[in-house]
Parts: sequence; structure tokens; C-alpha cells
Amino acid sequence: MTPHILVAPYNEKLMGQLRQWKMVILASGESQVGSANNHLRQDNRLHAVVLRTGKALSAIEYEEPWENIPLFIYADEFGSFRDLSSKVDFLRKMGARFFLSGEKAENYQWVQMLASMGFNCGVHLGKKAHWEAASDLLHYSFYSPAKHGQVEPFNYISGNFSVDSSINYAAVYFDDPSRYLHINENLEIAASSQELNDGIFLAKGIEELKTISSNKAYETRLNAWRGLFLRNSECSGCESWRVCLGKHEGLSDKNGSKMECQAFYLQILEAIMQKPLPVEGKPEWRF
Ligand code: SF4
Repeated sequence: MTPHILVAPYNEKLMGQLRQWKMVILASGESQVGSANNHLRQDNRLHAVVLRTGKALSAIEYEEPWENIPLFIYADEFGSFRDLSSKVDFLRKMGARFFLSGEKAENYQWVQMLASMGFNCGVHLGKKAHWEAASDLLHYSFYSPAKHGQVEPFNYISGNFSVDSSINYAAVYFDDPSRYLHINENLEIAASSQELNDGIFLAKGIEELKTISSNKAYETRLNAWRGLFLRNSECSGCESWRVCLGKHEGLSDKNGSKMECQAFYLQILEAIMQKPLPVEGKPEWRF
């Protein structure tokens, strides 16, 4: 099994305790981006820096030393096109990926615009999504003849889809526990950032981290999808469950027709069958 990559807040003491792991560092502000990079690049342990910000994308103070940092920026909203356009040349050099919340309908159009400008970007599809806007974005991502940046999670799903197994596209948000584990300053370990925040822990301590593959709670969490079938969820009869894994369970009305989430994921599957997205060379970096 490939060793996990740990997702942790920027904290020098914590990083010192976790010397043998590759890390995704959560920067709480712009000032921590360069510091995290400098700290972990020296010993080649940096997988990515994630800046989650309450600011709009256009209002972030992008800094010259951020160039070539594997940086992911998550924002709730885009902000002002006029403000961002003055930074476009630098942002292109920087090579960061931009994610906007999927909770705002207008964000899907902003993501399309970012992709059309050549940026790799995506929407953070949470439990609630705007299905019509999401569907428009997926059509753009798969069918637009114009060259554009990668749009997540579609690019990930297309590149990792297999008819024989399920995939967890939450990897693009660093929330797939088969690859990423979240850890805090108390060395409490969780399967996702939400579960860490909610106090739903798999284990605690470095020794537990080393043996997590044989941890019962971890194994149960990896197989949580089985619950869809055990409780006879509406997802158990869904043709798309291998791609969605019940991420929107319980939110849609059945109304005797296909639920909105089902219809959306079926469009993704159809698109992959018709026109899988091109896999870009052999990237050194992958989710
Ligand atoms: S698409 Fe909807 S019905 Fe299907 S697995 Fe996902 S949440 Fe469940």
C-alpha cells in the first residue's frame, strides 16, 4: 500500500513530529504559503500547499515567491474580474490551481471562465450542488472544442474511471482516505477535513498512524459505501454510485423520475464513454 500523504495545518512542531511523511499543508493565510514551502521543500516532503480563504479569488495578495509552489487555492467566490485581470500574467506563471465553492450557482461560470483562460481549476462539489450549473460546466469540460485548463472533479473522474471499481473523486479536495489522512496538533487522525473538524477520529498518535492500514475504524471508514446497500438507501439502486459513492445521499426527491444527482453523474459517465478527457503527458504531481 502506498504510504498516506498527511494533511495538516501549518505548525512547525507538528511538521517536526511527522518527518517521515509527505505532507499537504493547510495555510491559514497568505503569509504561511511561502513558509510552508520553504520548510518542507528542503527535504522533499511537500506534496501541496492549500490556501483556504474567506477572501474572493480576486482579492488575494498573490506573491512573487509562490511561483512553482504546488499551490491549491480554495475560495468561496470569484470577486471582481477587473481586479483579477491585472494579475493574470503572474497567475499563469505561478501555476496554482483554483477551486471555488459549488454552493454558489455563479461559481460554476467563473470556473469555466478560469478554464477558458488556461487555468487548471475546479468546483468544490459538496453535499449540495447546483445541478444545472454543474451540468453546464461538465459539458464545457468534456465537449468544448476550445483548448482550456483542466476542470475538476471531471478531469480526475475521467482519468481514473474504471468499469471494474469505484473511485473517490474527493481526492481532488484531499479527502480520499485511501490516499490522504488528516491530522491536527493533538495528533488526532481523521478521514477528511470535515471529520477532523467534527471530532470524528480514526485514531490518535504517531504509532497509530504507522499502523493505520490495520486499524479497524480505518477499514470500516474505507468501506463506508457498503452502508448504502445495508440500509437500502436510494443510492443502492443508482447506476452512478461507483463514481459518486453516495455523496449527496438523502438530499434529492425521487418524484418517480431520476434524481438530479443521478442524472448529473450519468452525464459524466456518458461523457467519459464518448470522449474521455485527454491525460496530460506523465505528470510528476498527481492527486
Ligand atoms: S448520484 Fe445520487 S443517488 Fe446516485 S449514488 Fe450519488 S447521491 Fe446516491
